[in-house]
Amino acid sequence: MKWSLYIGKPAGIKVFIHWTFILLVIWLSWMHLQQGHGFFEITMGLLFLTALFACVTLHEFGHALTARRYGIETQDINLLPIGGVARLERMPEDPKQELAVAIAGPAVNVAIVVCLYLLMLFFEQTEMELSHRVTGGNFLADLLVINIILVVFNLIPAFPMDGGRVLRALLAFKMKRSKATRVAASVGQLLAMGFILFGLFYNPFLLFIGIFVFLGAGAEANLVSRQEALREITSRDLMKADYPAISHTASVSMVASTFMESREPEMVVTDGDRFVGIVSYKRIIEELQKGHFENPVINLVKEGLHTLSPSATMDQLFDQFHQSDQHIFPIVENGRLVGIVSRQELAHLLNQTEPGTHHGHH
Ligand SMILES: [Zn+2]
Repeated sequence: MKWSLYIGKPAGIKVFIHWTFILLVIWLSWMHLQQGHGFFEITMGLLFLTALFACVTLHEFGHALTARRYGIETQDINLLPIGGVARLERMPEDPKQELAVAIAGPAVNVAIVVCLYLLMLFFEQTEMELSHRVTGGNFLADLLVINIILVVFNLIPAFPMDGGRVLRALLAFKMKRSKATRVAASVGQLLAMGFILFGLFYNPFLLFIGIFVFLGAGAEANLVSRQEALREITSRDLMKADYPAISHTASVSMVASTFMESREPEMVVTDGDRFVGIVSYKRIIEELQKGHFENPVINLVKEGLHTLSPSATMDQLFDQFHQSDQHIFPIVENGRLVGIVSRQELAHLLNQTEPGTHHGHH
């Protein structure tokens, strides 16, 4: 991420902190100075900020390390002044796994609350006056309260929040994932409207949360449902049934003009409707330069070709896209060529699905 400072790589996951944090530090110091506070209070304030974001980071590691158990890696964790973002490669599709990954973050904060509470009890009982003074009195209590707020806020059942994913996962036990997504998004937006209404009259902060949740729930729902729709697409839906094809008996000189007309970098070679292979323009040019005008194209088809069945899913198509440098992917059924999918088309679709790897909340 741009404008970010690399702070370390615990458990093999890079953690970055956004430069706008400096603004937060300056603002916090300024607030203290305004109130006539001295060096000690400012230091304690900054220590508290550090502790708070340590809790946020642990929350993100909760998600990331749980995802790792299911073979999903995390690109990085970014700390922004508004919260943390763990960029998971993807969310698990299995509702049980999605539930575990989503709930792991808030669960970390619950664990922190319990630890802080025990620590406070311990200090109270042993009456450690010194530590009480050093921590400035409310440090642990404030941190505990903030962690409770983090749990509650993240469990709001609306999409940018973990709670939205928890709800979707729970619904997905009973219904199709795409439907679960739509229901969860609607619940989130309904809730957001409640926040906005309530916030208008009682609390501007709730109004702000409501708008944030409403926009987030809508955006995420759109993205997810687009991804879901894409996932249901097979190569049969994508393939073009009319494409320039070359007969296996054609010679280099015959094919050269076909290539120039079509301007395709590759073309399929067929024997009737039977699939034979793919030949590239580059290969034809090479043969022309060698003067092999009468060489039949069947001698020039690519080796180790990837073909797909009409029922191949988007994931299989994307795998092929990444593994080979083919410009066209022949769709073959029982040896018969039924259509082709172009690399260009796949690149376009892949672009639309990429933002789905992000997982964020505040
Ligand atoms: Zn989270």
